Amino acid sequence: MKSLMFVAPGQLRFDEVDAPSLVEGTDALVRPLAATTCDLDHHVIEDKTPFSGFGPFPIGHECVGTVVEVGPDCTDVAVGDVVGVASHIACGTCAQCELGHTARCLRHGDAQYGLPVNGAWGGTFDELIRVPYADFNLAKLPAGVDPVHLASIGDNLALGWETVMPTVAGVSDPKIAVFGGTGSIGLYCVDVAVHCAGARTVYHDDDPARMKVAEQLGAEVHDIHGKREKDFHLAVDASCNPERLRKALLSVMPEGHVNSVGIYFDDVRLPLLALYQRGVHFHNGKGHARPNMTPTLEAVAAGTLHPELVTSGVYGWDEIPRVLTSGRAGHKPVFVLEN
Ligand SMILES: [Zn+2]
Ligand SMILES: [Zn+2]
Repeated sequence: MKSLMFVAPGQLRFDEVDAPSLVEGTDALVRPLAATTCDLDHHVIEDKTPFSGFGPFPIGHECVGTVVEVGPDCTDVAVGDVVGVASHIACGTCAQCELGHTARCLRHGDAQYGLPVNGAWGGTFDELIRVPYADFNLAKLPAGVDPVHLASIGDNLALGWETVMPTVAGVSDPKIAVFGGTGSIGLYCVDVAVHCAGARTVYHDDDPARMKVAEQLGAEVHDIHGKREKDFHLAVDASCNPERLRKALLSVMPEGHVNSVGIYFDDVRLPLLALYQRGVHFHNGKGHARPNMTPTLEAVAAGTLHPELVTSGVYGWDEIPRVLTSGRAGHKPVFVLEN
């Protein structure tokens, strides 16, 4: 089969590799229907991460696909199911998985698709993917939804739900700020904030394309360099930019929450005295996709969420290397594999 390899910054290519096969009885094999980039992948390709020096490796960890083979111990998934694939490798039964912390699985640690960490699981731009603990790690797509715009369900799209909903649960008339800067996560957060949390939502950025999408999703859109309000229940830092992180931290009401979904590979100076005086709850860490995929899919099926507005372009599978190294991939390009 063909596997998309990250070779070096700015260099992607398809390699011919052995296709995976079932190893455990709880495994399934999935052929992608559509796959997309995590915001992190763009930074890997642009030489902005430590991973950028570790090529070649299979890249990509977001896809939806069709189950083509299941092991004898699978009871929930069946051949022919159209599913979203969780980006992390999680057993579903250890103490961390039971808490919903699937990116901290005690059996598999940091293991995931599409990055050179903890095992060779391939990437979601491969033509066939082995999914362990398939009953747990696969989420069936609801009938009647277009799988193309759900390609991100196993990571960034579910992260939109996770970043917003638990934090504002029980808050009446929530007010949420999103500071954008990476491709898609901030926009998925806006979608959830407006349509699921019913929040007054203000989106800050300086990228015209993303600002337009945020407006279509129902946010008030402010230039990142303009004045900002400082009484949000929740500020989301989806920027990977220390200045924007600082703005997010100083935008919440006393005892407010800041959830940062950007990854900072270097130390960042923080205004700790101001945070002390304000009382700020700060979370920065990986998303735990699997438990958040189900409510996200239910909201899409109900017509509440609009991930199709975040998709920046739909392309053929053969176009992946060219589009992703062109510098014009947009904030969320989706690639469709002929089946
Ligand atoms: Zn990711
Ligand atoms: Zn586990």
